[in-house]
Amino acid sequence: MRSKILRCESCARYTLKEICPSCGGRAIASKPARFSPDDPYGRYRRALASEAE
Ligand SMILES: [Zn+2]
Repeated sequence: MRSKILRCESCARYTLKEICPSCGGRAIASKPARFSPDDPYGRYRRALASEAE
């Protein structure tokens, strides 16, 4: 199981701990924008799926 990469809200440092080792601020999970509804690969997959029907 992989560790989640967190990012400090205060200094934007990446860390694996919930408390930033650099400034002691709160670290939160950074969300990748990979699964946006209009990503080109998702559109491509939907086009293939409709052709297969
Ligand atoms: Zn910090």
